[in-house]
Amino acid sequence: DAQAKQQVLQQAKAADVKFIRMWFTDILGTLKSFALTVEELEDALDGGLGFDGSSITGYNDIEESDMIAMPDPSTFQVFPWSPKENAVARMFCDVQTPDGDPYVGDPRHVLRRALERATEMGFDNFFVGPELEFFYFKDSNGTEPLDYGGYFDLTTLDAATSLRRETVLALQQFGIHVEYSHHEVAHSQHEIDLRFDDAMTMADKVMTYKTVVKEIATRHGVYATFMPKPLQNQNGSGMHTHQSLFQGDKNAFFDGDDQYFLSDTAKSFIAGQLRHARELSIIFAQNVNSYKRLVPGYEAPVYIAWSRKNRSALVRVPGFHPGQEKSTRMELRCPDPSANIYLTMAALLHAGLEGIEKGYELPEPMERNLYNLTHEEREKMGIESLPGSLGEAIEEAEKSELLYKALGEHVYNRLLNVKREEWDEYRMQVTPYELEKYLPIL
Ligand code: GLU
Ligand code: MG
Ligand code: MG
Repeated sequence: DAQAKQQVLQQAKAADVKFIRMWFTDILGTLKSFALTVEELEDALDGGLGFDGSSITGYNDIEESDMIAMPDPSTFQVFPWSPKENAVARMFCDVQTPDGDPYVGDPRHVLRRALERATEMGFDNFFVGPELEFFYFKDSNGTEPLDYGGYFDLTTLDAATSLRRETVLALQQFGIHVEYSHHEVAHSQHEIDLRFDDAMTMADKVMTYKTVVKEIATRHGVYATFMPKPLQNQNGSGMHTHQSLFQGDKNAFFDGDDQYFLSDTAKSFIAGQLRHARELSIIFAQNVNSYKRLVPGYEAPVYIAWSRKNRSALVRVPGFHPGQEKSTRMELRCPDPSANIYLTMAALLHAGLEGIEKGYELPEPMERNLYNLTHEEREKMGIESLPGSLGEAIEEAEKSELLYKALGEHVYNRLLNVKREEWDEYRMQVTPYELEKYLPIL
């Protein structure tokens, strides 16, 4: 609206902003950006800015490639590392067709549609708290760590501690509330946790978070990566996602009379995510490398079950403490930080809502370490696994009506095509593993 636009113009003036970066994402979740000068800002706020969508992964072909980036004034922010004169700011954009309709290939639009479904079902907010883990390496040509610390280690004298501190400060200057940060289990692995927020705001924050982590690392001459499993024999990087639905300021997941303090709404929501996990896997674990993380023994889930304590399960429901009704939530442990955050939030929400709409029943929790069960034991208990590879995830996605509905025809088809190509490219390789294993004996 007019007031929000005026405010942006004033902010830009007050901070001596000269360049404004327009941010949006392609279907794989890669941040795209183009800059305009402040002289163009007012027009851009009114009518958006045209760009060529044909070179954006998953957008339109050359024949109908004209797109409009419509900046969202509520996301105007000056970069913390910007020079004070001729400063640089950014805004997230919604992508539109030249007629001003939302563009079906825009991940933000896909998430907005999911949120509308929640609203129609009587939920005012979908709150999410993603925990993104990442690695610092000396550079992007290898995996030489900056430190050999482990979980919660205070690696006082190494570079990572001050990198993390600077990153947290920059995030706060972006208006992003950081709850805590710590060293993770693997060498040179870290985590910075953001305070939960509604899904759209959080998805934008996650895009900013990734940019800030990488930017601060670059400024210190090191490399930060959200690759899910860069080190073969150590933990990978997850993006555990805490979720709850609110009606007004009431947490629809809480029920004080239930043995797990979970409402029927929460139970069906969790059941929905468990039941559809295999089909949605292509979204929350979208790369060949994602499936190297989802293996037994590294605190990443493999088996489709829920639990209150056990970190080998797909879903964990953190224990309830009296007075904390608002924080009753589920934690989904399979997503990794290379995912497209908008599509991930959308797909998860649809799966949960599907569970609520159809009244799915939540199975009993599984408190045993699922890594230790034998194949036969799991079979007897009826415990399924996530797909073991991108190829298997593609097959599941091809059969999924839910995914088709969640993404819409355009994104669904484009994404599957991109992923089929990626999988073919990967599986056609003859690897050092094969040569070492088979050449001497065959
Ligand atoms: N890094 C582990 C993963 O891949 C999670 C460790 C933790 O519990 O925070 O999901
Ligand atoms: Mg962690
Ligand atoms: Mg966690």
